[in-house]
Amino acid sequence: MSEILKNYIDGDWRESSDRATFPNEDPARRGSELNRAAASTEADIDAAVGAWGRTALPERQAAVERFLDALASEREALARIVSLENGKTIREARGEVDSALLEGRHHLRQISVFAGQSAPTTDGAIVSWEQFHPLGVVGVISPWNYPLNVMCRKTLPALLTGNTVVFKPASFTPGSGVFMARLFERAGVPKGVFNCVTGKGSAIGNRLVRDPRVRAISFTGSTEVGRTIAQMAAVNFTRTQLELGGKNALIVLADADLDAAVDATVRAGFGCAGQWCTSTSRVLVASQVAEAYMDRLLTRSRALVVGDPLAETTDMGPVAGPAQFEGISAAIAQAQRHGARLRSGGVSDNRDGYYILPTVFDGVTRDMPIFRDEIFGPVLAVSTVRDLDEALAWANDSGYGLSSALFTNDLAAALRYGREIEVGMAHVNIHSGFKTPELPFGGWKDSGFGPPENGRSGLEFFVERKAVYVKAGLSAQGSRVGDR
Ligand code: NAP
Ligand code: MG
Repeated sequence: MSEILKNYIDGDWRESSDRATFPNEDPARRGSELNRAAASTEADIDAAVGAWGRTALPERQAAVERFLDALASEREALARIVSLENGKTIREARGEVDSALLEGRHHLRQISVFAGQSAPTTDGAIVSWEQFHPLGVVGVISPWNYPLNVMCRKTLPALLTGNTVVFKPASFTPGSGVFMARLFERAGVPKGVFNCVTGKGSAIGNRLVRDPRVRAISFTGSTEVGRTIAQMAAVNFTRTQLELGGKNALIVLADADLDAAVDATVRAGFGCAGQWCTSTSRVLVASQVAEAYMDRLLTRSRALVVGDPLAETTDMGPVAGPAQFEGISAAIAQAQRHGARLRSGGVSDNRDGYYILPTVFDGVTRDMPIFRDEIFGPVLAVSTVRDLDEALAWANDSGYGLSSALFTNDLAAALRYGREIEVGMAHVNIHSGFKTPELPFGGWKDSGFGPPENGRSGLEFFVERKAVYVKAGLSAQGSRVGDR
C-alpha cells in the first residue's frame, strides 16, 4: 500500500477522523498512485481551529527565517514532488521554489517596516497612534497549479503578522502541501500555529470558510469557487482575499520586436502547460505583421519537447489530471466546431499521461467561447486586429481582468495601454506572467476580490487596525477639550 499523508493539526500528525483517504495520481502516468492523503472531515477542521499572536515579532521572524532556510535546503526534493504530482517540468518546479523564496524573503524584510509604520502623533495632551492586531485564525485555500508558491505568498504574511493558519491544499497536490507542513514543524513553529488539513474543497474548504472563528480567508482558485466563498464569508463578515481566473491577452503591434513577442507568447502561453493564472491565452496581433508573427510562433511551438516532466530536456509536461485533460480536449473540439482554425497541436498521441500539445488557433473572433472562456491549458487563441484602438477594445472585452502584455516600441502606445487596459498586472515588452514581490499581485473584474497579495496589502490584509488615543493629564494645556 502506498504512503498515507496525514494532517498536521496542533503540532500532531493525524489521520482523518474517519480514517478515509484519497489517491494522489502522477499525471504523467495514468492510473498511478503516488501516495494517499487524508480525506478530512468537518471534525478535523474543528480540531485545527484553536498564543502565536502574543509571541514577540523577532521570534516570529526567526521562525519564518528558519522555515525559508529549510525550504531552500529542500529545493530539489520539493521540486520533484511538485513535478510528480502536478506535471510541471522539474525546471519549472525549481523556479516555483525560487519564486516562493524570493517572495518569502521580501515579506520577512517588509514586516519590520510594516510593524514600525505607526509612529505616535501628539496633539496637545493627546498622544495617538494606530495599532495593528492579528486577526486570529485565518484560512488559506490554494490551487494545484502553484501548490507551494501560492500558499507561501499567503501563509508567510499571515504568520509574520501574528495569525495562526489553517491551510487546505488542493486535492491534486496534497503531497507538496504536507511537505510544507513538515518544513514548518522543522522550523520550530509552535504547536497549533500552522495546521494543514487535506481533503475535498466542497466539504472541508467550505467548512473552513463558514467557521465564525476563522477571521479571514485567502483563496486562490477559480472564479466560480471564489464567488461561492465570498457569499459564504459574508454571513460572518469574514474578510476575503480572492485571486481568481483569467483570460489574459498579449497584444502585438505592427512595430513590435516580433522575436521578443513570440518568445513571450511561448513562455507565458505554454509554460506550466498553460496552467498559470497569468498565462497568455489570447493573442491580438496587428494585421500587418500577423503572418510573420504566426510563422514564427508555429515554428517555436512545434519545436517544444513535450513529455516526461522529470527530464531536464522537457519543455512541457502533461496537464495536471484527468479533469483538466477532458476539459481542455473538449475546449479544443468546441473551438473547431465554432470555426476557429487549428494551426498546431491538439491532444497528444502519447496516452501514457494526460498530454496536450502546445496548441495554436487563429481566425478567432470575439463571439467564440475560446475567446471568452478560461481554458487553463496550453491553448492560444490568435485574432488579428487593425491597431491599438481595436486591440484595447478586444482585450478589455472580457469578464476577466488579471494580467496582460503589449509588444511595441511606441512609447505613446505603451503609456496609453498602461492607462486603458483593465487588468491588475500590465506588461510592456515583458510576458504576462512576470511579477515582483514589491508590487501587488491581483486581478480586476472577475479575476479578483479584496486586497491583492504582495505589494503594500500583502501583510496589511492580515491585520485588524485600532486607533488608540491617550490623554496624558486631565488638566493638560493645549488639548481642545470640548472638541473631543
Ligand atoms: P478551484 O477548483 O477553484 O480550487 C481551488 C481550491 O479551492 C482547492 O483547494 C479546492 O479544493 C478548493 N475548493 C473547491 N471548492 C471549494 C468550496 N466550495 N469551498 C472552499 N474551498 C473549495 O481551482 P483549481 O482548479 O484548483 O485552480 C485553477 C484555477 O485557479 C484557475 O481558474 C486559475 O485561473 C486560478 N488561479 C488563479 C490565480 C491568481 O492568482 N489569480 C493563481 C493560480 C490559479 P479541491 O482541490 O479539493 O477541489
Ligand atoms: Mg496529483
